[in-house]
Amino acid sequence: MKKVEKKRQLVAQHLEIFRCPVCHQPITKLVGNSIVCTQGHQIDFNKHGYLHFLKGAADTEYGREMFLARRQLLSAGLFKPIVRQIAQTLPNRALKILDVGTGEGTPLKQLAGFRPGITDYLVGFDISKAGITLATQLDLPAFFCVADLRQLPFVNDSFDVVTELFSPSDYAEFNRVLKPNGQLLKVIPNSDYLIEVRHLLYGSTARHSHYDNSRVRELFAKHYPGSRVQRIRYRFTVPTGLQAALVEMTPLHWGKGIRQLTATALAKLRVVTVDVSLLMARKN
Ligand SMILES: [Zn+2]
Repeated sequence: MKKVEKKRQLVAQHLEIFRCPVCHQPITKLVGNSIVCTQGHQIDFNKHGYLHFLKGAADTEYGREMFLARRQLLSAGLFKPIVRQIAQTLPNRALKILDVGTGEGTPLKQLAGFRPGITDYLVGFDISKAGITLATQLDLPAFFCVADLRQLPFVNDSFDVVTELFSPSDYAEFNRVLKPNGQLLKVIPNSDYLIEVRHLLYGSTARHSHYDNSRVRELFAKHYPGSRVQRIRYRFTVPTGLQAALVEMTPLHWGKGIRQLTATALAKLRVVTVDVSLLMARKN
């Protein structure tokens, strides 16, 4: 079966979770290469096999090169302990899981790998076409789409779990698409996250050298008073040759006043610190 046909079948399997991005009415039909809402609005599968729910072009600086760099590091296991921890919080039954800001899709693939024998319904979305094009190419029975975080193309009470790694949030939208008592799992960086990269780029005293997540944590706790936080911290050995990709995959290098890195400087990035908080809540 062709990849595009497989993706169409994945959508057809749970057509009831999709809603129209124009009028917010349910999607009720899959006709040929399109899904159609009750008002007759039509969204076509593109040649890659994904649906593009945004009305205009996405405003994003995350290009294909960045996602390819990211895929190299993630495939080498940069975030695997985080994904394992997420998997351990999930019940052992088939779930509908939405991955927010899914990028090129590797974390969702690794999550599926940590749940052998369980057939979850996996959906990932991102605002970046470059990311979703790469994600759709993964050998993974998951459906990916380009969508806006603030206007999710899903009906209310659709998902058991919403996961999110290093992505912005819209808690009202997450609550809308989560089933009652559904789980929200959000990963945010702690101050030592990739500290070695930051020190290399900015020096150890500059403003960008440290990252403060207290505002994000406070906002999360305000939305979800019963939430829990788990710290996940480990050291990751950067595979030889992937030092430049590691710098490329993070938005850190966009900042002003960064140093130009020489090959000698890059070679010093042998081991990096991954230090994050996993914020866990239930829809209330
Ligand atoms: Zn419509």
